[in-house]
Amino acid sequence: MGMMERGMKSLLLGELLSGMSLTLRYFFKPKVTLNYPYEKGPLSPRFRGEHALRRYANGEERCIACKLCEAICPAQAITIEAEPRADGSRRTTRYDIDMTKCIYCGFCQEACPVDAIVEGPNFEFAAETREELYYNKEKLLDNGDRWETEIAQNLELDAPYR
Ligand code: SF4
Ligand code: SF4
Repeated sequence: MGMMERGMKSLLLGELLSGMSLTLRYFFKPKVTLNYPYEKGPLSPRFRGEHALRRYANGEERCIACKLCEAICPAQAITIEAEPRADGSRRTTRYDIDMTKCIYCGFCQEACPVDAIVEGPNFEFAAETREELYYNKEKLLDNGDRWETEIAQNLELDAPYR
């Protein structure tokens, strides 16, 4: 570009005008940004978010304390202790996940024979202290109760591909 041409462009504010016309064109197009946290984008049924322990419809815990999830966890984030109940069934007395170790690989969910431990759709569980990210059984069961509708729906949607 010659000096004269550059000079004319500067004088007539060519770059400014082309920038403003681009802004004007996008002003009337549909917005691609979301007003988070008031608006949220779609999530895949396979999204691996915060963990939850599920119950059966009658309120009984699904987990049978087989410890497969604990064994497969590559981050060794899961700690389980178990005892037989008076009726002879086996249930956990302790089920902890150290969420600061978890790498969200989903292996625990894959290994579980009764769909007890799952990674739910919740991704908004940031905490201010590490202690808040040491989840115990009560917290995990609470998560299961809170997210059961969404979790069951996601498992059903994903079932044909498993
Ligand atoms: S998602 Fe992976 S790393 Fe996290 S608890 Fe499950 S198996 Fe362990
Ligand atoms: S959550 Fe599933 S895999 Fe883990 S101990 Fe319970 S039943 Fe076994």
